[in-house]
Parts: sequence; C-alpha cells; structure tokens
Amino acid sequence: MAQDLERDQWRLVDPTEFADVYVINSCTVTAEADRQTRQAVRRVLRQNPKAHVIVTGCYAQNQADACAEIPGVSLVLGNDHKFAVAKFVQNLKKSVQVPEAAIQIDRLTGLPPALLEGFESRSRAFVQVQQGCDQSCTFCVIHRARGPSWSFDEAHILRQVRNFVSGGFSEVVICGVDLGSYESPGFEDGSRLPLASLLKKIADIPGAFRIRLSSVDPVHLTDDLLAVLSDPERFCPYLHVSIQSGSTLILKRMKRRYDREFLIDRLESARQHINGLVLGADVMAGFPTESEQDFADTVDVIDRAQVIYPHVFSFSARPGTPAARIPRQVPKEERRRRAATLRTVGEANRRLALRRMIGSVGQLIVERVDVPAKSNAYHGRLANYMPVRLMDPENASENEVGVEIQRVSEEVLVARVSPSE
Ligand code: SF4
Repeated sequence: MAQDLERDQWRLVDPTEFADVYVINSCTVTAEADRQTRQAVRRVLRQNPKAHVIVTGCYAQNQADACAEIPGVSLVLGNDHKFAVAKFVQNLKKSVQVPEAAIQIDRLTGLPPALLEGFESRSRAFVQVQQGCDQSCTFCVIHRARGPSWSFDEAHILRQVRNFVSGGFSEVVICGVDLGSYESPGFEDGSRLPLASLLKKIADIPGAFRIRLSSVDPVHLTDDLLAVLSDPERFCPYLHVSIQSGSTLILKRMKRRYDREFLIDRLESARQHINGLVLGADVMAGFPTESEQDFADTVDVIDRAQVIYPHVFSFSARPGTPAARIPRQVPKEERRRRAATLRTVGEANRRLALRRMIGSVGQLIVERVDVPAKSNAYHGRLANYMPVRLMDPENASENEVGVEIQRVSEEVLVARVSPSE
C-alpha cells in the first residue's frame, strides 16, 4: 500500500505525525483488535480532524457497516482493493462510502500484488506466497475476510525473492494465511507441487540470505517439509506452529485438522529434523467447554514441546462463528487466568532456553541501531529468532554480524562481536 501511494506522488510520514490521509490496515482476529481499529481512527483524527481516514484490512472486510459508522471514516476498503489504494485516495470525498466490490471477497482472481521494492529496513523482507483459507475453524473469522485459499504464481515468488536478495536483504520470511496449503502447478496430469518444493527452489537462489517461515499448521509439518527445513545453511531453526489447543476434544470442537497425538508427534519430529529448533506457537485459552483437564492438556503440550514464544489468545467470541453459539462459554475471568498461566509456562521455558545460549555463537541480523548518545548498541535477532543486543559493534557491518553470546538481560541475549569475525 505504501509503495502504491508513493508511486502516486504521496509522501509517507510517521503515523504519529500530521497527515492529509491516514490508511488503517485493520485486524479482526479478536474483539480487542476491532476496538484497537476504532481507537486508531480516533487517534489520527485528533492529529488532523480534517484528514481523510481509510479503513481497510480484515475488520473492514468483515464488518464494513460497523467500520463505516466510526465517526470520521471516509472510506472502507475491502481486502481486494487495498493494494490499489492510491486510485481510491484520488477519488476520495469526505463522506462515508462502502464500495460494493470491497465486500465481495469471493471474487478474488488470484492476481498477486505488484513486485515489492523493499521494506522500511534492509534486514528482513516478507514474501507472501499464499492467500486465503479453505478451512472453517469454528472460532475464526479470518477465512471469511481473506476468501478461499489460492497460491501465488511460482515464477512471481521466485522473482520477488531474487529482487530482495540482490537488494541486500539478509532474511526472507515466507508468509501465507494457511501457508502449508500452498501448491504450485506441477505436472501435466494436473498434480500439484507442495510448499516443500517451492522452498527448495527459493533455497537454490544464489546469495547470502536465510529463510524463515511464518506460522504453519501442524497438519502441514510433513516429514518432507521438515527435511527441507533441516538445512541449517538456508533455513532458520525456528517454527511458529498454530497449535491452538492440546486437547483432542477441544481441537475437534474447534474443527482443527489434527488431534493431540498427531500434534505431539509432529512437534517431536520437527525437533528431530531441525538442529537447535526454537518453537513459537499460537495457542488459545478458554475455548467454550474447555475443562480444567482440557486446559491442562494444552499446558502439557506447551511444556513438553518446550515452546518458548507462545502467542496466547484468550478466546474471543466473534460474531457469526459457531464457537460463539456454544452455550457453555468459559467465564472471561477464567479465560484470562488460563491465558496468564500459559504465558508463565512459556516464560519459564524461555528463561531456560535463553540461558542455554550463553557461550554460543551465531549470525545476528541487525534490525535497529541505537543513537550513539544512548548506548551505541545494535539490536536484532539470531536465526532462531532470539533477540540480541550487541554491545561493541565497532567494525561490524550494519546488516549482519557474527556474535558470541555473553549473558542474558531482561529476556534479551547480550552479545559481543564474535572473535572469529
Ligand atoms: S486454518 Fe482455521 S484458524 Fe487458520 S485462517 Fe483457516 S479457518 Fe482461520
């Protein structure tokens, strides 16, 4: 969106500054996400009450009427149209309008967005390879906001990665809504090639860069995919797995594609394949009917799989979803308590894992440099996603540095430039 606007002569400013047009790319995964969008509209209008405010993204897509009713919103733009935002800005009138096409996402044609030229920093580039989702998990509204699953053209993806690598990016993150359902045309008989085959082709692109996957569903963690990911030269030893629950009964009620045994088996297999694997996970607390035992099963999986970055959601009843209609809802207070417990388990796992890193060496990709007056430190992440503060960066190139971990401070690894650099 930023690229489209810049090409159309708009100048981008920091969101906290005065602007003539604000584009808010909304999320609707929880009721809290919806609230944050409404709050963001109020905040930008305080900066410039005369600004045009465009709300796009998944909240706009799923609840266009609610978005249009937020005082001060000029335009509600569906996910189909957001990459052509400049065209809409040109025609903008200070009135509430909900373009008919903006809420007809099922007409997606499968056209990928234009090739991206870059991101704010040169460290990490995101490459979307898949859009939409054919599942209908009972708590989820995202598949409605993004439409059915479709995969981007393989040649387009490879061109995009090549562009980023030759542009100096040291890491590409491969993303999708239901990433593992990516498939590309394979053979003349119509059979398709899976994500693993695309990743092999990306890994073969010449250049010094590493590859990270965004969130994956356990059902897609096949041995074939894990074998590809086991190449430490190219792939980051980090996986973010969309676990949601560790209870077979709850997974069934969520309409997930796996049960507890399958989940544990896949996480164990991932650990066997990928040396030094670090795990993150999406996990939900307090799904309707979740008993103490069901919850204990989830805690057990997070603990046993040594998940160190759990991204915990308290269940949020989304309008129109089957889960919102289940009569036995877990009280809000209890959902919060369970979410806090899961975070605590993750924190304990994390503390241990961070401490084990002391004395090890790794490649740091720098994301941010402190202003010299403050501390002159570099900040970034290792391939396994652990955050690092590099204290003596003199002589280090700004993008990628070999580091040696010395200690842990407030969940951050403190490092120095590796003596072998
Ligand atoms: S897999 Fe389930 S949770 Fe994920 S986007 Fe699809 S429907 Fe939603």
